[in-house]
Amino acid sequence: MNQKTFYCLIFTAFISLAVHGQQKAAAEQAEYYSPAPKVITPGSANFGAPSDAIILFDGKNLDEWETTRRSASNEKWTLVDGTMLVNKKSGDFQTKRKFKDFQLHIEYRIPADITGSGQSRGNSGIFMAALPGGSGGYELQVLDNYNNSTYVNGQAGSIYKQNPPMVNACLPPGEWQRYEVVWIAPRFKADGSVESSARVTVFHNGLLVQNDLVLTGDTPYLGNPEYKMNSPSPIKLQAHGDKSEPISYRNIWLREL
Ligand code: MG
Repeated sequence: MNQKTFYCLIFTAFISLAVHGQQKAAAEQAEYYSPAPKVITPGSANFGAPSDAIILFDGKNLDEWETTRRSASNEKWTLVDGTMLVNKKSGDFQTKRKFKDFQLHIEYRIPADITGSGQSRGNSGIFMAALPGGSGGYELQVLDNYNNSTYVNGQAGSIYKQNPPMVNACLPPGEWQRYEVVWIAPRFKADGSVESSARVTVFHNGLLVQNDLVLTGDTPYLGNPEYKMNSPSPIKLQAHGDKSEPISYRNIWLREL
């Protein structure tokens, strides 16, 4: 190697290192290390709650829940074999705590001997945010739509009367089913007007059924959706007035976002 070739190689190596350094510095501009995502111990099998969850129902008691209206007999929903059984006479059941944005896990079972059809077959519902006084809210429908059809924006996995589920993921009656929900509550200005709409993502038995849906308001049976100032709010489970056999819930936990 002559002297000229030697210096040429040194120069090329120097330029290469400089370019590499510039690229690395540019790439690092988009990398950050803080705040680090919190380390959470994932739940074990059977969808157990992770370490940072608020346990809303684990089969032991109904301490986190209250009726939205008291029946004459002062009845509550009932604890049966570690599950929470809907009591239609006592009305809807809601959390004592109020929440804003959350990740929710909840399991339900339609009785194996369910009767009825359409909306009158295992109807319940999960209101991600109940309205003041326990009325209405934003309902993720619970219904037996395993070989039972109804209006699609009112079937299981729908945001009631707003958007049907992307797929029908219902399991047969008698089997435990689950929802995973990500709920971003609506924001309101001081005058009660809407600053930002509610958004929801839902997995039904592990399948995506609502993908970051923007809600147009609450989910009434009759009338148009509208927003009413209600945040933070309880989560409410529906005691639907149909005549079919009551359904059960279990393993309800939530992570505040
Ligand atoms: Mg319902």
